[in-house]
Amino acid sequence: MQSEKKITIVGAGLVGSLLSIYLAKRGHKVEIFERRGDMRKTTMSAGKSINLALSDRGWKGLEGVGIADDIRKIAIPMYGRHIHNRDGSTVFQPYGKDGQAIYSVSRAEINMKLMDLAEQQANVQIHFNERCTNINKEKMTADFENGELLERSMVQSDLIFGADGAFAASRLNMQLSSDRFEYNQHYISAGYKELIIPAGPNGEFLMEKNALHIWPRGSFMMIALPNPDGNFTCTLFLPFEGEKSFANLTTREQVKKFFDEEFSTAVPLMPTLLDDFFHNPTSSLVTVKCFPWTFEHKIALIGDAAHAIVPFYGQGMNCGFEDCVVLNGLLDKHQDNWEAIFDEYQALRKPDGDAIADLAIANFVEMRDKTADKTFLLQKKIEAHFNSKHPDKWIPLYSMVTYSPHIRYSTAMKEGARQQVIMDKVMAMPDIENKWDSEEVEKLILKEIK
Ligand SMILES: Cc1cc2nc3c(=O)[nH]c(=O)nc-3n(C[C@H](O)[C@H](O)[C@H](O)COP(=O)(O)OP(=O)(O)OC[C@H]3O[C@@H](n4cnc5c(N)ncnc54)[C@H](O)[C@@H]3O)c2cc1C
Repeated sequence: MQSEKKITIVGAGLVGSLLSIYLAKRGHKVEIFERRGDMRKTTMSAGKSINLALSDRGWKGLEGVGIADDIRKIAIPMYGRHIHNRDGSTVFQPYGKDGQAIYSVSRAEINMKLMDLAEQQANVQIHFNERCTNINKEKMTADFENGELLERSMVQSDLIFGADGAFAASRLNMQLSSDRFEYNQHYISAGYKELIIPAGPNGEFLMEKNALHIWPRGSFMMIALPNPDGNFTCTLFLPFEGEKSFANLTTREQVKKFFDEEFSTAVPLMPTLLDDFFHNPTSSLVTVKCFPWTFEHKIALIGDAAHAIVPFYGQGMNCGFEDCVVLNGLLDKHQDNWEAIFDEYQALRKPDGDAIADLAIANFVEMRDKTADKTFLLQKKIEAHFNSKHPDKWIPLYSMVTYSPHIRYSTAMKEGARQQVIMDKVMAMPDIENKWDSEEVEKLILKEIK
């Protein structure tokens, strides 16, 4: 049993809320300070109802504190990608083996549920409208400004976790007060906008419910994930500048023409398209890498505050939940030795955070471009075929990242690079289209993976 600590968590987002449950179950006294008001009591602003894909690493995080079943009730399985080609044809690409799925959950729903579950712990308290403005790592105090009462307060604790997201104040504080703090921030050239395909007249889904829909269009794409009430949240990922870009979609006529040309099969399902387009915000996408993640063995960054990544592998939340799992394992291993816990936490997680950040960037190209490419699809087919014959020798990269929480992201990335070298040789074989499932191909792969 560890000795009880007074712990402050900055941010009651997905990761901060889950982390509080892990820490509370170990007997620590946890207070969360959240900048926003209580979202369970307010209506959500338009354009921010995005839904997220939850996969095995995330489930493992939820199972670790026994709350996976609560979340399963608000999650919809998606068994593969449903590709909508420009000519109107569609193709279903399964994600993995039979029954393997990723799960669509509303960001707001899962966040609210996690807050409920956190508050069910006697030793967790969430304070809303409290914006962290400063952390003093010598005195172990955090300053907050109450957005409603316009009052300031200072909280002293034994440990502080910065779980305040991609633009974390806690991280900025550590950056400004620490020598040799490494920081790298990169915006991709595309932004995103949320749109909607509403449910049919009887609340029915107007497209396949159990799939992640993609309209891949080369330099841009639209995706859609199902929600329990029958609608789909669509996200348009499009460059900010250039010929086909947000910059060139400034009038209703331009938007109508663009959608009619690019997403003609979706347009009839989007009756509020033009209003939504101009009402909902256009947001940017950032990767943040930094180091260290821990300070004085008393303060740690976690979730997006430590590693903000672009959403194209559907792993940001999953990775943050995995941070909690790893930290919890280290609490078992090192008990009261917080020095060892924090040292090993950042040593283990930093390479994995970097790896999934890089994989997520690479997956943007795969989703918007390659999912409609015949050679790419043939390669995936060969990999799946080989995997079904030799599951011990080859797990496709997507499956390692998404369905294999026992494999670290950094290991998956290295293995994926090694596999790609082999697949380049396979794809260069003459007449590969016709002999993709032949013994000759199998033998070549077996020889190369030795
Ligand atoms: C378009 C898009 C799609 C995505 N899709 C997926 C997906 O499919 N799968 C997936 O796994 N991930 C996805 N992600 C990533 C995922 O949303 C994040 O990784 C996840 O929300 C990180 O959780 P977090 O708790 O670290 O940060 P957040 O969820 O951002 O929470 C941070 C919290 O801190 C609060 N806060 C901020 N500043 C302060 C302050 N100064 N004081 C107090 N509180 C503060 C915020 O209000 C917020 O509540 C997506 C992200 C985007 C943008």
